[in-house]
Parts: sequence; structure tokens; C-alpha cells
Amino acid sequence: MYMNIYTELDIDGYQRVVRCDNKKVGFSAWAAVHDTTMGPALGGCRVWNYDSDEAALTDVLRLSKGMTYKNALAGLNLGGGKSVVRADLTTVDRTALFENFGKFVEFLDGLYITAEDVNSTLADMEVVRQQTEHVATVGASGNPSPFTAYGVYCGIRTSARHRLKKEKLEGLTVAIQGVGETGARLAEMLAADRCRVIAADINRQNLKRLREKIHFDQISPEKIYNADCDIFAPCALGGILNQQTIPKLCCSIVAGSANNQLLREDDGETMRKRGILYAPDFAINAGGVINIDCEIGREYDPDRARQKTAAIATTLQKIFDLSDKEGMPTNRVAIKLAEELLAEQREHSEPLLRTA
Ligand code: NAD
Repeated sequence: MYMNIYTELDIDGYQRVVRCDNKKVGFSAWAAVHDTTMGPALGGCRVWNYDSDEAALTDVLRLSKGMTYKNALAGLNLGGGKSVVRADLTTVDRTALFENFGKFVEFLDGLYITAEDVNSTLADMEVVRQQTEHVATVGASGNPSPFTAYGVYCGIRTSARHRLKKEKLEGLTVAIQGVGETGARLAEMLAADRCRVIAADINRQNLKRLREKIHFDQISPEKIYNADCDIFAPCALGGILNQQTIPKLCCSIVAGSANNQLLREDDGETMRKRGILYAPDFAINAGGVINIDCEIGREYDPDRARQKTAAIATTLQKIFDLSDKEGMPTNRVAIKLAEELLAEQREHSEPLLRTA
């Protein structure tokens, strides 16, 4: 009665893309396995009330490709994948949704490992776990956000050393867009280092919660782009670095947790021309996925996860040095490095599965 219907989609450049429809429960989902050269494709499950099926498919293709680069650059034995669910969470039976999503993940037979993401929670992943073992974040590693925030903090230190020649962050001003799971934790670490923190959020509760922990200057969400600061840390939405916002920026560095910060790839070049050092999102925000990797196929060790997350600093330094040397925007350098790692690995091993 609650049957999922699966449809294989043939998409150029992707190993496997499958659509899942469940009319009874009231959702459609897409799982995209972009590349498994490095290992099974890990990427979270995003739930969104997309306007159209096309929008959902575009999102899953874009996000899964990003995961290939993120996982490769972080040195993980994991490929890139992602899933998106098109559903209205205000009306759908959430348990039935995630039970059937779990069956969908099981159908992919380990080629794809899912995890929590935007609008899916640890509790939802517990439901998924009842249907499949190919789900992360329900093991010992727990909430990935503290590790993502710590990785961004390490990346900010590297960026400040590189661009501002500052060994310590003390005295620098950091403007944070979004003080949720990652942004608030980052704000706390920066405040402990005696930075001046400026923050904007559309959620008053999150601002209030942070105010109880640290002192910061609040700014409106519209004015955050113009904030006079050393470092702008986008920790909310994607696509916020674009032809409208980049000219407004009054900072030397952009480094934050948000995924897909550049609206278009060539916005990276616009940042470079403006003399702003951009820490590529998929390099700096890999702490969460590094933490998840530490629970896959081994006993979880938080110290190992923290150490591996701190190594994001080394990766970023390499990106910055190469960018300076070759006059290439940092986002392109990061993609180039990830593609080189993938090409090197392909010489030694085959992807898990090239086609369906
Ligand atoms: P979150 O939902 O906990 O926090 C986001 C915050 O941004 C919220 O407080 C929200 O109110 C605020 N916000 C939304 N729109 C805003 C706007 N226009 N202006 C200002 N604030 C706004 O999410 P999170 O887990 O902190 O993730 C933030 C970003 O980092 C997302 O892009 C996510 O994909 C990315 N990311 C998160 C992780 C992780 O481990 N949580 C890992 C990698 C990437």
C-alpha cells in the first residue's frame, strides 16, 4: 500500500541517479551518486518543498557533485552523493516518509550512504536506520555541526595568517551571517579568541540564545554584506556571493560554513579581482563529513575527528598558495586539486559501480 516506485535516470557525468515516488505518503525523492572513485557516496538528505521536480533534480545533481569534491579534498574514502526529498513537512506523515526514504536508501544497496541535512534530523535518521544500515550520524559521531564549526574556525585562522599576516585572531572583526548550529558555535570560538563579532540572523531566538553566551553587535540581515569587518563568515544560505552582493563587501576574507556560497563559478574570479580571499566552502566546511567518516567502519574516536578536522588548515593553505602562484581563483584551484586526487585514485581502482 505504501509502495515506492523507482525510476532510473540516465544523467551524463553521474554514476547513478534514481527517482523514488510514493503517492500514498505524498513525496518524491531523488538520490544522485555522482562519483564513487573514492568509496561509497556519502551525502545528506535534504527535505524541501521544491516548486518543481526539475528544481529538486537540479539541486540533487549540484549538491552530489559538490560532495565528490568535498570528500576527495578532505582525504576521505568516500565518494559524492546526495538525496533530496520533495515534500511538504507541514502535512506529510513524517515517520512514513522516512521509513520509505529508508527503503529507498536500502534499494541503492550501499552505493549511497545518507545522513541528516537541511530539514532532516537525527530522529529522522533513526527511522531510516530501521530500514537500512547505509545511514551515518546515528552512530557514535553524533551532531556534525560542532566539527563543521571547528573546521571553519581553523580555516579562518589560516586565512587570517595568509591574507592579514596575523598569527592570532585577537582584535579582528568577524561578521557572521546566520547563528544557527554552526554559526553560533563559530561565534563562541571567535569571541574566546577576543575577536569582535557582528552577527545577523532572521531567527530572533537564535540571536537571543547566542546573546546569553557572548557579547556581539547585531546587524540586520540586509546590512550584513556592508558590515565593515576583516572577515565575513556566511553560515546560513547558499548563493549569497553574487554580482549584487560582492561589490558591497567590506572585508578582506570570506570564510564560512554555508554550502554553495558562490552563485556561479565565475563569482570566484570576481572575488579575486576585488582582492578578497575566498576560502572555498567545500574545503572549509568539511569538518562535519570528516567527523561522520570517523564512525564508518571503525570505532569512533572524537580526538581523531578533531585532529582530522584541524587538517583543513593545511588543505586551505595549499589552495591559497596555488591560487597566488597561478593567479587562479581559489574555488577553481580547489576543484582542480580535488579532480587531480580523483584522477590519481582512478589509476589504482575502479569506481564501485559505473552504471546502474
Ligand atoms: P542552521 O539552520 O542551524 O543555521 C542557519 C541559520 O541561518 C539559522 O539561524 C537561520 O535563521 C539563519 N538564516 C537563514 N536565512 C538567513 C538570512 N537571510 N540572513 C541571516 N541569517 C539567516 O544551519 P547550520 O547547520 O548552521 O548550517 C548553515 C550552513 O552551513 C548551511 O548552508 C549548511 O548547508 C552548511 N553546512 C552545515 C554543516 C553542519 O554540520 N551543520 C556542514 C556543512 C555545511
